[in-house]
Amino acid sequence: MISLSQGEGNSKREWSLKDFEIGKPLGKGKFGRVYLAREVKSKYIVALKIIFKEQLEKYRIHHQLRREMEIQTSLRHPNILLLLGWFHDSVRIFLILEFAYGGELYNELRKHGHLSEEQAATYIVSLTTALAYCHEKHVIHRDIKPENLLLDHEGILCYEFLYGAPPFESESQSDTFKRIMKVDLSFPSTPNVSMEAKNLISLLLVKDSSKRLSLQKIMEHPWIVKNANPKGIGKK
Ligand code: AMP
Repeated sequence: MISLSQGEGNSKREWSLKDFEIGKPLGKGKFGRVYLAREVKSKYIVALKIIFKEQLEKYRIHHQLRREMEIQTSLRHPNILLLLGWFHDSVRIFLILEFAYGGELYNELRKHGHLSEEQAATYIVSLTTALAYCHEKHVIHRDIKPENLLLDHEGILCYEFLYGAPPFESESQSDTFKRIMKVDLSFPSTPNVSMEAKNLISLLLVKDSSKRLSLQKIMEHPWIVKNANPKGIGKK
């Protein structure tokens, strides 16, 4: 990554599409496609996100993108992917992102149905340390979805890791929303999940955010202490 790193000292450099060999598509987001790419000189592997300027206009997200780019360039944490640089042409913006070698966690989840308590606790610790770092830097992650506005991300994730499905899933979107509003939480009998894990989830999925467990308290929770594998923490 160091060879590609920009924005530090006087090493700023201008990138263009000619600097990269484009590989397979990695995925598609709301505003663009992401491709595996290799920087020609260093052979460094990155993920190249391509956003069409027309889409920026259409959804009026210039400021949001700019802010996210500033944030992602300034954060340095082992669990946060770095934005290494960017460039543009007349129609597109290209974001050079650190490549996530592990792939998507949701694919892991889909493949295995659910995660083990050790894996789940280890991911929760990785996420918690990354969130704590963002809070320190006064960057608050806000994903505007009803469940994220109402409830804690980590409680939902922890549930989904262990059970393979989100906690308030229902037949229809409006029923899901009703369950979220009521914090209608129930634990299926399978897979078998420990009482300590259920206790942590219950402490995270509370409506009143002032009563929700702090990041520090998550790290001290007995289920985390017992299950999180220190060797797995800090790996993207
Ligand atoms: P996004 O627009 O950021 O949601 O990205 C769309 C999809 O592209 C994601 O769901 C990932 O599958 C893939 N992707 C995005 N960024 C990266 C990255 N840095 N490394 C590997 N895959 C990525």
